[in-house]
Amino acid sequence: MGKSVFEMMEENNVEEKKAAFLQKQRCLSYSMKVRYAENLVREYIKEAREKGYNTHVSVGGLDSITLSYFIRDHCGFHDVELISCSGLEDRSIQYVHRLMGVTRLTPAKHTDGPREGKPWTKMEILQEYGFPVLSKEIAGKIELLENPSEDNKTVRHAIITGETGEYGGWQKNSRMKLSQRWLELFGGYENENEGTNYGKPDNFKVSQKCCYYLKEKPCDDWAKEHNSVPFLGMMASEGGRRAKSLMMHGCNYWGKSTIRSCPFAIFYRQDLLQLALDLNVPVPEIYGTIERRSDGTLYTTKAQRTGCTMCGFGIHIEKRPHRFDLLKEKNPKEWDFWMYKCCKDPDGTPYGWARVLDYIGVEYGDLINAGQIPGQMSINDFLN
Ligand code: SF4
Repeated sequence: MGKSVFEMMEENNVEEKKAAFLQKQRCLSYSMKVRYAENLVREYIKEAREKGYNTHVSVGGLDSITLSYFIRDHCGFHDVELISCSGLEDRSIQYVHRLMGVTRLTPAKHTDGPREGKPWTKMEILQEYGFPVLSKEIAGKIELLENPSEDNKTVRHAIITGETGEYGGWQKNSRMKLSQRWLELFGGYENENEGTNYGKPDNFKVSQKCCYYLKEKPCDDWAKEHNSVPFLGMMASEGGRRAKSLMMHGCNYWGKSTIRSCPFAIFYRQDLLQLALDLNVPVPEIYGTIERRSDGTLYTTKAQRTGCTMCGFGIHIEKRPHRFDLLKEKNPKEWDFWMYKCCKDPDGTPYGWARVLDYIGVEYGDLINAGQIPGQMSINDFLN
């Protein structure tokens, strides 16, 4: 089926936006990017004020810590609030958050059942909904396969086959399809419907709900209560779905359901690290220190990126020692709990991340026996 004129115009528009974004990302110098980010902050705050909104930074790791210093100290907007679901972050990040006066939010609360009114814990989410693993996008797809309904039938079919049906414009090989690597392991939920012979885990679930209950909902609720719109530390260079949305909607976005400013959208990691140095940002211990290689590039001596401890998003493409290894080194007891004891089978047998990592083929534990030299990449890293 040929494309309509409208579809072709839409595609051109997307391509133009992407090209303009990439040009800024690739061609602007570091100092120009900093000035550009400064303008974005000023414009966003001005527009927010005109519309009657407050502004806040959703603070997590080094990117958003740097953003907070940038907005407050460099741009001079000291009244921008800092909020975080800090309890999920590494202790060294929580320590820096305390120094900065970040307001700590609690996870979303149970709305019914025996724990009504009490905040969800990560253990409860893993047990009830499943483990956040691979990527948010992939976990979301697997979660749909695990929870079939009449309403999500078309989407499930697209996840397995790539065929989107009438509502998706009859596409044959859409991006909805799970890659072959993950279809082999998780496509089995649809074997009967699709006549396939894929596998599926029978003793753990996968879900993207963890972020929703522990981070997104608490932040959204806080923002509503305080009539505030967020600054986020996202950079398109980090890739994924976020990159696409940043290129499409720009750095400051006032959409119908989403409002946000990402002043560092066009930054590369190098720009961010340089800015962190220039602003004298306290670097949480989990990252080590920011150092310069002989070729001039900046790097952090320990973790390159963080997030919650024991989160499985991205774990399959991380080099060893990966983030679970780092926790083992730092806090073997905590590691042991999350690896083997955080959930229970119906018969009471404890289990944890080890089961999930075994299933997806990610090594963990003793590095000497791991059959992998730290820092070495496997061919699978490039397959998805
Ligand atoms: S980043 Fe990972 S562990 Fe943290 S809230 Fe999101 S899914 Fe959960």
